[in-house]
Amino acid sequence: MNFGFDIDDTLLNLREHAFNLYREKLNKHVPIKEFYRLTRVEIHEPFGLTDKEGKELWRSSLESIYYTDCPIFPGALETVKWLKREGHDIYYITARPSQHGERTKKWLSERDFPIDDGNFYYGMKDHEKITIINELNLDYYVDDKPTVLKTLLDSDTTLLLKDQSYNRNFTEAIRLYDWYELKELLDTLP
Ligand SMILES: [Mg+2]
Repeated sequence: MNFGFDIDDTLLNLREHAFNLYREKLNKHVPIKEFYRLTRVEIHEPFGLTDKEGKELWRSSLESIYYTDCPIFPGALETVKWLKREGHDIYYITARPSQHGERTKKWLSERDFPIDDGNFYYGMKDHEKITIINELNLDYYVDDKPTVLKTLLDSDTTLLLKDQSYNRNFTEAIRLYDWYELKELLDTLP
């Protein structure tokens, strides 16, 4: 089978990591519960920033957000490695900008994610992921963003949504609360 994975906020807990970095950088101790309450992908609002300021802070913080010690969601690495061992093909499809593609690949490889050179796609916008996902004939695709999964509703790919506070209204994909559940979940799926 072909399995595709988004990276940020699907395999990696990137936004929470960024939220913690913002607390240090801005020296504002916004409680973490504010993070879990967010109903949008952007994280700047609890820090009192406008969308413009938030966008700029995200852009100027990318280096530390991407390449410091961003945590992997519990069970994510083990699950991807297990699928690989079972003989499945693993693909990564991320909207991270092109200039961060190769470094991201290296960062993930160093953390033991199984990556083949031809199986790693980056630099497309969210709405452009559909082209690659369809070309790859993925059997399963996991992402955190409803905007991405919505573009795939007519495809044959089984869609899984990594549960996040901002995607709770999206009901058209199978919700993955915990990576440790995937193995069991797959037994119940076509
Ligand atoms: Mg994502």
